[in-house]
Amino acid sequence: MGGHMKPQETRMNPPGVKSIIAIGSGKGGVGKSTVSSNLAVALARAGKRVGLLDADIHGPSQPRMFGVTKRPASPDGKTIIPLVAHGVTLMSIGLMLPEDKAVIWRGPMLMGALQQMMTQVQWGELDVLLIDLPPGTGDVQLTLGQKTDLTGAIVVSTPQDVAMIDAKKALDAFASLKVPVLGLIENMSMFKCPDCGFEAHIFGEGGVQAEATRLGLPLLAALPIDLDTRLGGDAGRPVALGDGNMAKAYAQLADRMIQ
Ligand code: ADP
Repeated sequence: MGGHMKPQETRMNPPGVKSIIAIGSGKGGVGKSTVSSNLAVALARAGKRVGLLDADIHGPSQPRMFGVTKRPASPDGKTIIPLVAHGVTLMSIGLMLPEDKAVIWRGPMLMGALQQMMTQVQWGELDVLLIDLPPGTGDVQLTLGQKTDLTGAIVVSTPQDVAMIDAKKALDAFASLKVPVLGLIENMSMFKCPDCGFEAHIFGEGGVQAEATRLGLPLLAALPIDLDTRLGGDAGRPVALGDGNMAKAYAQLADRMIQ
């Protein structure tokens, strides 16, 4: 984003952060948070200094996915010290509230929280800050697109038509905000039966690749439905920490991001 959009004082780039990559989706439930957590871990394993900001303020998933519950400290009452889990510097509104507590805020409060998480959190020196966006094309996307220098965005979708319809809207929103889209990720591509090896395309086939081709963008990864991915997410140990096929797939994705 050029500096032409807003005066400097309203911008919200965390100092010391080399690149900021937003991870979006059209629809919820397609695995955006799962992909964000695992990509963050894989980038950290590849030696990068990685932060992850959970910007899904109404449905923060990252505390659960990283297995952290500790409230971040604010010794000076102004800045917040983020937590570090599995090698990733992490901040989420979910760390400030009990897990079953709803955030019932209007836009301005939401934007205040986002601004705080970007600029008052001591992110330190990072090679990359990943931002796990809420689904859709709302306030958070607009504010980040206008007020931060996003290096780029990644859009996650399942191959299902209803997911792709909304993913196209997310892509359109990034184009309007002049945020370069680095590529698409297809999640829940297929399910391979652990008994017989049959590959079932539960959510359809080919849709994300077709859209990537249409837009001239890379399909960065096609990730299967995988039990360990789901279990790892629920247990607070992202599957990318292990040494199985999914960890390898995320390591490959991280390599592609680094290049
Ligand atoms: P979103 O952030 O898009 O709302 P989540 O990452 O919260 O989606 O994923 C929704 C649910 O699907 C979670 O329960 C998660 O564990 C599960 N999930 C996501 N990706 C996969 C996958 N590749 N294989 C199995 N389960 C997955």
